[in-house]
Amino acid sequence: MPAPRFFAREEFFGWLLFDPRTHQYVVPVTSAAICAFRRVIEDGDLPLADELPGDDRDHAADIARWLRDNDCIPGSIRISCRAPKPGMLSAPLNVYFDFTSICNLACTMCYDEPKRAGTKRSSELTVAEIDGVFAQLGEMGVFRVDLAGGEPTLLPDVLEAYLAAADKHHISVSMTTNGTRLSYDLSRRILGHGLKTVTVSIDGHDAGMNDRVRGAGAFEKAVLGLQNLLTAKRDLGSDTVIAIKNTFRPTITAEEIGGFVELGRSLGVDKVKFNSMRPSGEAAADRELISAVPAYYAALREMKRLADLSDDVEISGPVNPATCFGGRISHLTDWGCVAGKELMTIDSIGNVRPCSMMNDFVVGNVRSNSLREIYFNSRINSLRNVEKAECSSCSAFMTCRGGCRVRSQAAGDFFAKDPLCPKDAGQDMVHAAERARPFQYLGLPHSL
Ligand code: SF4
Ligand code: SF4
Repeated sequence: MPAPRFFAREEFFGWLLFDPRTHQYVVPVTSAAICAFRRVIEDGDLPLADELPGDDRDHAADIARWLRDNDCIPGSIRISCRAPKPGMLSAPLNVYFDFTSICNLACTMCYDEPKRAGTKRSSELTVAEIDGVFAQLGEMGVFRVDLAGGEPTLLPDVLEAYLAAADKHHISVSMTTNGTRLSYDLSRRILGHGLKTVTVSIDGHDAGMNDRVRGAGAFEKAVLGLQNLLTAKRDLGSDTVIAIKNTFRPTITAEEIGGFVELGRSLGVDKVKFNSMRPSGEAAADRELISAVPAYYAALREMKRLADLSDDVEISGPVNPATCFGGRISHLTDWGCVAGKELMTIDSIGNVRPCSMMNDFVVGNVRSNSLREIYFNSRINSLRNVEKAECSSCSAFMTCRGGCRVRSQAAGDFFAKDPLCPKDAGQDMVHAAERARPFQYLGLPHSL
């Protein structure tokens, strides 16, 4: 039987589709788009433009065309989940799922809980358990998984088994690696699985900067690995996005930001990512991460300036609080903290958390609880609708959602507003009401 073109999950606002070719969710936004999706999925009928509701008639022809152009036709869609809950998603959109915490580096800011970093492989999930997790994710309608670690390339056979299990259950994988073990052969094996993105973590544009964080010799090895990856991508004609990611301190300078973008450009990557360092794991006690507010926003402005100027390499920045960079999380919400709502994480021994950075917040384990049970009936619920009044009454709340819980916790109160609150810092907030498209491709604009 041919693979379905789309996978559908039913939500309280209607159908949400996953498109494996673009690795993205598609959500209808206008009533005509909602109606069109319903006609295809529930009635098995491809609507014509003049059969769609008239309140956004301007979009009706676009919607009908989109359905045809994207083969969104009766029979092309497999329904994976029909469990709408009023006001909340039926499942996360992304799951960060690691199979090892073993690593060959010892980065000074690693978010991994120090005691987890030494976990023996013998207690980590087996290949059969990994397959079982992917099966559950597919049934729940979670089609996006991010793999980090630990360092997944240290266990190439488990990595291949992991990627094969994801393929089997039609789940799109993005992976982050330190790049130091990426041979040409391993790069080909990885890219052969059609990942959405492979990101190599490099924390500076030269060895001096990077190796202060990642250890002596790490820069040279990571660049070599990245070159192997890019060569393999070219040889295979792969569509996988190749990115480099800098986990930056708020005091990063404009020169360092520009230098990192130029590094990506000179290496020929598709994307340059900037990810703000959070006060978690090895960096839990780092006060600068919650206090250097003007420097943080100056850095975001510089990243945004370079992103606007760049027409060859895509540049992305941190999204929480999201004041500078685009990306919205459907009409449910906007940016802001996704922990326990659009995101859940599973570590290498099966512990489930709302966010990988929340080392003390284990809400279940895949060896003893189903993922659905954890998502609906665990302490994870305490993360829904409990923001302090200072945020819930804020005009920017639907955009910001209180910022980052990990930073708030480091500042002393898990549910208080982010110590880097963008409003307090005088930032312009972009509000939810600005959208007017019939449907949109929906990513999870969040990067750890
Ligand atoms: S008060 Fe600050 S942190 Fe809270 S929602 Fe508003 S902008 Fe975000
Ligand atoms: S905003 Fe902070 S707490 Fe929320 S998901 Fe991101 S890193 Fe985790």
